[in-house]
Amino acid sequence: MSFLACAGAAAFAPLPARAAYDWKAVSNDEWRKRLTSAQYAVLRDHGTEFPGSSPLEKEHRAGTYACAACDLALYSSKTKFESGTGWPSFYEPLPHAVDTSNDNSIGEERTEVHCHRCGGHLGHVFPDGPPPTGLRYCMNGVALQFHPAKA
Ligand SMILES: [Zn+2]
Repeated sequence: MSFLACAGAAAFAPLPARAAYDWKAVSNDEWRKRLTSAQYAVLRDHGTEFPGSSPLEKEHRAGTYACAACDLALYSSKTKFESGTGWPSFYEPLPHAVDTSNDNSIGEERTEVHCHRCGGHLGHVFPDGPPPTGLRYCMNGVALQFHPAKA
């Protein structure tokens, strides 16, 4: 009897919350349809855009920079600075916006930055940025979309 009671209790255990959209399960074929070829080359294929090619490098309005693939907010315009590198640069991401991993792909140790939600490649972070963090998040503008702050 006690066994049956336990089985019954298990059957009525609350169901897990409805799964959130699984961005990391989106296939490369699907990403090819959703992204431009330039976005795909960076976000899914770890490419790097030509320096100076992104209009976002010269973007100076207040607002938020989001992932071009999944639209997760990644950086505030408040943390953007002129790095002179030709790539949009920030000294700090928004909380829980990006993840980092080691990248030795060019025989030099670099820290890769990718979107926390979809895993898309964004750029790299270097320890030569300005205060207060001393970090330089060197981003591919094509991997970002800018949302101006509402006036
Ligand atoms: Zn993303």
